Amino acid sequence: MRTARLAVAVAAALAAATAGTLTVGAAPSGAATCNGYVGLTFDDGPSNDHTPAVLDALRQNGLRATMFNEGQYAASYPAQVKAEVDAGMWVGNHSYTHPHLTQLSQAQIDSELSRTQQAVASAGGGTPRLFRPPYGETNATLKSVEAKYGLTEVIWDIDSGDWNGASTDAIVQAASRLGDGQVILMHEWPANTLAAIPRIAQNLASRGMCSGMISPQTGRAVAPDGSGGGGGGGTGGCTATVTAGQVWDDRYNLNVAVSGSGNWTVTANVPAPEKVMATWNVTASYPSAQVLVAKPNGSGDNWGLTVQKNGSTTWPTFSCTSN
Ligand SMILES: [Zn+2]
Repeated sequence: MRTARLAVAVAAALAAATAGTLTVGAAPSGAATCNGYVGLTFDDGPSNDHTPAVLDALRQNGLRATMFNEGQYAASYPAQVKAEVDAGMWVGNHSYTHPHLTQLSQAQIDSELSRTQQAVASAGGGTPRLFRPPYGETNATLKSVEAKYGLTEVIWDIDSGDWNGASTDAIVQAASRLGDGQVILMHEWPANTLAAIPRIAQNLASRGMCSGMISPQTGRAVAPDGSGGGGGGGTGGCTATVTAGQVWDDRYNLNVAVSGSGNWTVTANVPAPEKVMATWNVTASYPSAQVLVAKPNGSGDNWGLTVQKNGSTTWPTFSCTSN
C-alpha cells in the first residue's frame, strides 16, 4: 500500500514538474532551491463541480496544497477526496457542516470533528492531522476537542478574500505577500481563485518560494515530507489511534493503537505544563521536555502513557511515521 502510494506521488510530482516547466516556464516545484515554503489552503470542498479543476490547475503548475474538507462533502464525494490525495495534496478537517463551532456544546463540536475524521478516512484521505475552524472562530472548548483527535488548529496568516468577491488580481497580490512558513486562506469554489492559480505559481517561482505541507507539529508551512498526500495519521504509512484510559486527580492514562505498519515511530507533543510520567509497551525517548518519541519494543502495536496533569487535561497530539 505504502509503496503504491509513493509511486503515484512520485509520478504525479514528475508530471507536475514537467507540465510546470512547459506551461509556466518557471522553476518547477521541487527544484533544488527553495528559499522557503508557503502553505496554500483551499477550504469548503470537496465537490464534483470545483475540485477536479482546482486539482488540475495545481498539478499543471507544480503546486501542492492542503484541502480543508467538510465532512459532509467528503461523505458525499469520496472519489474527490481520493483525487486530492492522488494529486499530491494533503487533506485537513474543516468540520462536518461548517457551523459556528464556538456557539456549540462540547458534545456537538466533538460530533462535528469526529464525523469528519471518519468521513475523510473512509474516503481514502487518511486521518486528518490538521483542522481549520470555520470562519477562523475558536475557543478553549474547541481546542480541547481538537487535541482529543490529535488535530493541529490552522488559521491563516493571509486571507485572500476570495470568499468575499476578491478579484483574481487581488488574490494573486495576497499570495505575493506570503513569507516562509506562512499560510494563505483560499476556497475551492470561487472562479477567481481558480484563475489565480497559474499566476500564484509564477509569483512564488519568481521569489524562489515553493508550496509546502503544513506541519502538524507547528502549524507552519514546511518542505513536503515525501510521503505523498493524505496529510493524515496515515502519512508515512501508519495511524496512531488514541483513546482515554484511567483518570486520577493528578494524572491520566491514554491508550495508543498503531495500525498500518509494524515498524513505526510515534511522536507525542505534550502541552505544557503537562508531563509524561510513564509509558508501557514501548521504548520511550524524550528529545525535549514536551516531546515523547515512542518506538516498538517487541510488545506489539498497543501501548500507552501516563500524563501528569499539573492543572491541564488537554491531550497531547500524536503523529505516526512508518520507518
Ligand atoms: Zn469554510
